[in-house]
Amino acid sequence: MTRTSISHGIQIIKRFRWSMAHRLTHGYKGRCASLHGHEYEVGVTVSGTMDEMGLVVDFGDVKRVCGGWIKEHFDHTTAVYEGDKALLDFLVTEEQRHYVLPFNTTAENIAIYLRERLQEALDQALDKELSIIRVTLMETPNSCVETT
Ligand SMILES: [Zn+2]
Repeated sequence: MTRTSISHGIQIIKRFRWSMAHRLTHGYKGRCASLHGHEYEVGVTVSGTMDEMGLVVDFGDVKRVCGGWIKEHFDHTTAVYEGDKALLDFLVTEEQRHYVLPFNTTAENIAIYLRERLQEALDQALDKELSIIRVTLMETPNSCVETT
């Protein structure tokens, strides 16, 4: 491999899974207005410069940082919109793990939010210039949103 050949754009993708409950609000009328859970799966695409070893970033570092954030904040929680007072009261009263979000807990909103939080986590934890250029969030095996 020549030096020139590694100057092409390259990204790594790391996948994570977690369990989380939520319900949709803001006047949403379908089945997802009832509290329910998903086994979410996210693909995090990280772009950066390859080092002398040929690494954009160690997969293990992305696992530790991004997987750690997800485990601490999202896994086995209920994602709750801050304006959903009835659900929030229940979660607080019953001491249930929950994560308060400032928006309706759609996959679209969660994907955008997750991209921002994971970018911050990478920036804080790793001394590398990395950019999360895409988050692909699967709410079910057949329902997926992708940030661009
Ligand atoms: Zn749902």
